[in-house]
Amino acid sequence: QRIIGAGATREDDAVEASIRPQRLADYLGQQPVREQLDIYIQAAKQRGEALDHVLIFGPPGLGKTTLSHVIANELGVSLRTTSGPVIEKAGDLAALLTNLQPHDVLFIDEIHRLSPVVEEVLYPAMEDFQIDIMIGEGPAARSIKLDLPPFTLVGATTRAGLLTAPLRDRFGIVQRLEFYSAAELARIVRRSAQILGIDCVPEGADEIARRSRGTPRIANRLLRRVRDYAQVRAAGRIDHEVAGAAMQMLKVDPEGFDDLDRRLLNLIIENFDGGPVGVESLAAALSEERGTLEDVIEPYLIQQGFLVRTARGRMATHKAWRHLGLQPRGPAAE
Ligand code: ADP
Repeated sequence: QRIIGAGATREDDAVEASIRPQRLADYLGQQPVREQLDIYIQAAKQRGEALDHVLIFGPPGLGKTTLSHVIANELGVSLRTTSGPVIEKAGDLAALLTNLQPHDVLFIDEIHRLSPVVEEVLYPAMEDFQIDIMIGEGPAARSIKLDLPPFTLVGATTRAGLLTAPLRDRFGIVQRLEFYSAAELARIVRRSAQILGIDCVPEGADEIARRSRGTPRIANRLLRRVRDYAQVRAAGRIDHEVAGAAMQMLKVDPEGFDDLDRRLLNLIIENFDGGPVGVESLAAALSEERGTLEDVIEPYLIQQGFLVRTARGRMATHKAWRHLGLQPRGPAAE
């Protein structure tokens, strides 16, 4: 498990339940998303209708699940949560849908992983609030139409491109979450520290925020690990120095990179002279899956300008050479 991994661990899940924002006002950052949803939610409530279906996409840990909770709370309705791989059969989805109350929110995480059969059931449910279900078996089998209460589907996925076009087209509201700025993450860290009763001065929160890869889940996790360090070594108080020392122990560098990030950049620079090098070769050399490389490791390195994707493969930028303490050689990939 990477300390800076964006995926949720069991420990994250346990703690996140207590610090997860419940209302739009506590959902920090993501200003454009918040502003738009605020309007759509108010408008739907004024009309007494279910909110249009919402598709949220963005890397793990940026607040997709949280936003689905916030949407349901702001609408004043119940939330049902599930995920693409969990809904195995059409009947599983039918059971979920027929149990909704009017205007409820159904959250489907990893919606790109729905099976085609289940997706087919979802189309008329989203469009006309109707499903066709099969009753009986063999020659006696027949299909009946069931009316559903009007509901809001909130779908989450790491990349919009993973969705089939017919599914994507059925979402009225599409929102993309961006990596958070260090200032936004610092506010999130201060809020979490307050809820968890952690003594963290603003400079300590800033230091944790800077190393959290633009991701609230990582910021909250680093806060907990730095708290342990502060408790044993610094009478429980997190300031700039304590946060820095704890991060050094955790091997999270000032850019928020860990060994895996540095190995990737090192590999491109040392073995491939800075690139370009194909993603398959990199995945093989790191013993990681291509998907993990593309979805988990690369996005932040690319966003921060350490790595670029070119038609001929990945290239390390001069910024990456310098970060590793090396003199840049070859053409700049910036
Ligand atoms: P995702 O579903 O995108 O993987 P989550 O919604 O589970 O991410 O978010 C991970 C954690 O980060 C949440 O438990 C929450 O505490 C925190 N978080 C996410 N977005 C925000 C936000 N905008 N403001 C404050 N905390 C947030």
